[in-house]
Amino acid sequence: MPHGAVIIGGGIMGCSIALELARRGYSPLVLDKGPGPGAGSTSSSSAIIRFNYSTPDAVKLAWESAHMWSQWADYLGVTDELGMARFLRTGQLVLDSPATPLCKVQALFDDVGVPYESLNTANLHERFPSLDLGRYYPPKPVDDEAFWEDNHGELAAYLTPDAGFIDDPALAAHNLMVAAIAAGATFRFHTEVVGIRQHDGRICAVQLDDGGVLPCAIVVNAAGPYSSRVNRLAGLAAAKGVTTRALRQEVDVLPAPHGFSIDDGGVIVTDADLGTYFRPHLGGTLIAGGVEPECDTLEWVDDPDSYNDMPTAEVWAAQTTRVARRLPDIGVPMRPTGVAALYDVSSDWVPIYDRSDLDGFYLAIGTSGNQFKNAPMVGPIMAEIIAACEAGRDHDADPVAVNCPLTCNVIDAGHFSRTRAVHSTTNSVLG
Ligand SMILES: Cc1cc2nc3c(=O)[nH]c(=O)nc-3n(C[C@H](O)[C@H](O)[C@H](O)COP(=O)(O)OP(=O)(O)OC[C@H]3O[C@@H](n4cnc5c(N)ncnc54)[C@H](O)[C@@H]3O)c2cc1C
Repeated sequence: MPHGAVIIGGGIMGCSIALELARRGYSPLVLDKGPGPGAGSTSSSSAIIRFNYSTPDAVKLAWESAHMWSQWADYLGVTDELGMARFLRTGQLVLDSPATPLCKVQALFDDVGVPYESLNTANLHERFPSLDLGRYYPPKPVDDEAFWEDNHGELAAYLTPDAGFIDDPALAAHNLMVAAIAAGATFRFHTEVVGIRQHDGRICAVQLDDGGVLPCAIVVNAAGPYSSRVNRLAGLAAAKGVTTRALRQEVDVLPAPHGFSIDDGGVIVTDADLGTYFRPHLGGTLIAGGVEPECDTLEWVDDPDSYNDMPTAEVWAAQTTRVARRLPDIGVPMRPTGVAALYDVSSDWVPIYDRSDLDGFYLAIGTSGNQFKNAPMVGPIMAEIIAACEAGRDHDADPVAVNCPLTCNVIDAGHFSRTRAVHSTTNSVLG
């Protein structure tokens, strides 16, 4: 009996897609070469939930997903004995910079219904006294003397009060897996897909590393940073349109200074003025990463099985020095502490949620370091695309529209097409 659908990858995306396919009766089988759900790049995610994206459909996706996170247990309809991931609302402060001005997102927020507050410099001094509000743009390498030049003015910002983060991203994947199993999905770990077979231009089976061959009618590529490798297995090496590749990224852990811990009003700060972001974390800490400022060299990775997964002194120095410039009271530990993991970056830092040129082979890839937050809604989007294509709809010519029941918006799934003209975005993790 062939499995209705095989999902390659049991990260947050594969688990979300498994749940929605199971609810629609596809009996999906999730295969993952790792030890458990969310053990890949999902486990290293900063798991920030925010709404400032460059395009309307991306904002709608984030806004609907945030509402799903708010009703997580109800949406899943199960109790996970490991516990449930929590959405901790902190708010997000986006400091003013040419890359992230309020005017670029204001109309999108107004259309979609995302609340925000504009804060001038005086408001910021009053509400966030521990922030240095100096304007230093453009970001510079920290070993460049120009990094230490005096500021040229002070910053304003905007605040989105509904932003926050998920306290345990791997647990969120586990929660989805438990719900998916209850709905009829199966999961198999320590199992690598090493081949994808087709017959007459359509998927017919996957080949496993133990020599087994599983007949199937549908395969979903949800392999995260391995997405381009899995596309090659399906013979889509020379894919037209948007492509994906892995990018190494570090996230550092620092002690949270007064006013920035989770317990005393700490907010997420997006700081494209200095080229960093940081957010409060559990245990009195703060985590910090980069937003790909032009002065930094990006570390593209050809083989996702072979990269340095430890934080390096160089990136640590760059990221923590930038945070320390913004938060002068922070104490910077003497050794690098944190994680290094991979983003799966698309040509325009917008994901691909789509069919492919091979019938029965679907793509949930190119998540570009910014899609954890959207995982709850990616399952429904992929399920709608798969159902429509399998029913004969030409999704390329007539893209599926997906309703957002909690926020009353409609997402044009064609926005995430592999054949799109690349979107105009920040060309960074900010999307
Ligand atoms: C450091 C970092 C910080 C981030 N911060 C944020 C953030 O703050 N907010 C946000 O929204 N997003 C963030 N992201 C992005 C987000 O975490 C990812 O988009 C998301 O976790 C990707 O999930 P995934 O399921 O696609 O990939 P993964 O979690 O990597 O899962 C893919 C799975 O596929 C499996 N696999 C691959 N190839 C095969 C094969 N051939 N056979 C079987 N299994 C296979 C792997 O073992 C892996 O478990 C961040 C990402 C990173 C790395």
